[in-house]
Amino acid sequence: MTFTISRRIGKFVFDRRVVLLLVLAGLLVAARSWLATHPEHNPWAPLDLNDPRGWATQQKLVALRDDVATCRAVLERSEVGFRALEPAGEGECRREDRTRLSGYPLSPDTPATTCPVAVAMELWKRDTLEPAAREIFGSEVARIEHLGAYSCRRMYGREDGPWSEHATANALDIAGFVLADGTHISVLSDWQGEGDKQRFLRAVRDGACGAFSTVLSPDYNAAHADHFHFDMDSRWTSVCR
Ligand SMILES: [Zn+2]
Repeated sequence: MTFTISRRIGKFVFDRRVVLLLVLAGLLVAARSWLATHPEHNPWAPLDLNDPRGWATQQKLVALRDDVATCRAVLERSEVGFRALEPAGEGECRREDRTRLSGYPLSPDTPATTCPVAVAMELWKRDTLEPAAREIFGSEVARIEHLGAYSCRRMYGREDGPWSEHATANALDIAGFVLADGTHISVLSDWQGEGDKQRFLRAVRDGACGAFSTVLSPDYNAAHADHFHFDMDSRWTSVCR
């Protein structure tokens, strides 16, 4: 009698384990096939800027900061035109990674930056800048006016202290925007107040925080009264202000 009961209990436990394993295997298969159709949520899928943004996008962007080859492969995969320029400079201003986007509307020219900055610029243009111009002004972005990417100097041009991200062109300063309908929006003249231009500038500043690791605007300090500073420094905690 005792023998039969314990055998039955044993069989029952065994069946439950089998059912549990089958359920887990089913979940695994379902998760794998879901991830295959949602690469933006899959940390192992290569980053493609044409995919929607997802849970894994940010982590993949961060990973590009130390890997030029992987970063340039992202631009190629995403069909973003660029040229890889020869390394240049010495010491703290040595630039191993000089990547110049081809079709980007920077004005007066498109400077070479690091590849992670180029990827972030493209992401920001697609996800934030162009939608904001359409939504607020019903127009397209014709030109993005910049104040430079590369500058061999320490932060704020000081004699000592940490080197600026500009020393390796891992940064970009943006001064204003010109839309296809002729609207001109300037960080210096249009930051203060309440209106479409102010709403636009705040939207593009806030949206930049999802693409760049550091975003500084006139809200940050007086040194940024006339431009947005965007960079891809490797600090874990980023500034977005
Ligand atoms: Zn700057």
